[in-house]
Amino acid sequence: MNRSVWAALIFATFAIPGTLTASRSAFAQNPPTPEEYTAQVGGTSRIVAPGRFKLDGRRQICGRRPTVIDNQLDDYGAAYPGFLIMNQRLLKRVSTPVKQWIYAHECGHQFRGPDEETADCFAVQRGRRQGWLSKAGLEEVCQFIAPAKGDSMHLSGSFRCEYMRRCYADPRVR
Ligand SMILES: [Zn+2]
Repeated sequence: MNRSVWAALIFATFAIPGTLTASRSAFAQNPPTPEEYTAQVGGTSRIVAPGRFKLDGRRQICGRRPTVIDNQLDDYGAAYPGFLIMNQRLLKRVSTPVKQWIYAHECGHQFRGPDEETADCFAVQRGRRQGWLSKAGLEEVCQFIAPAKGDSMHLSGSFRCEYMRRCYADPRVR
C-alpha cells in the first residue's frame, strides 16, 4: 500500500494552519502495526516505546501505546488504532501546552474513537486533571487551531474552541 492510501486511513487530525482541513476520518479497518508503518514511510521514522516519548522533557503516556516519530508526516500528529504518530519537525514550532494537547488529542482517538470533538474534549480534560493545561494554555491551543476552516466534516477552529472551553470547565469527565 502506498503512503497516500495509508494516510487516508489515519484519523482526521489537524490542518497545518493556513491549509485546508482534509477529510481523513475513516476508522482504519486494517491498521498497520508501528513496524509496518515505519517500514513503509522509511526515512528517519522510528518507534518510541510506550512511556518513553517526551515533549519538551515531559514524559507522555497513552496507556500502552507506542509513539512513531515521523517528521515527514503532513501534519503535527496522527493516530492509527494502536499507536500515535508525532511530527517533531512541526511540533517544535509550537508551545509546550500546545504540543501536549496535540499528543493528548491523538491519545483521545485511541480511547474514544474517531470523533474530533470528543478527542478535543478528552485532551483538555486530561490537561486540566494532570495540571499541564491552564486557561492561558487553552487559549494558546485556540490560537493554534483558529486558522482551521470548517468544512462538511470538521467544525471550524472557533467552534472547536467553544466546545473545548465548555469541556474544560465541565467537572464531568467525558
Ligand atoms: Zn483528531
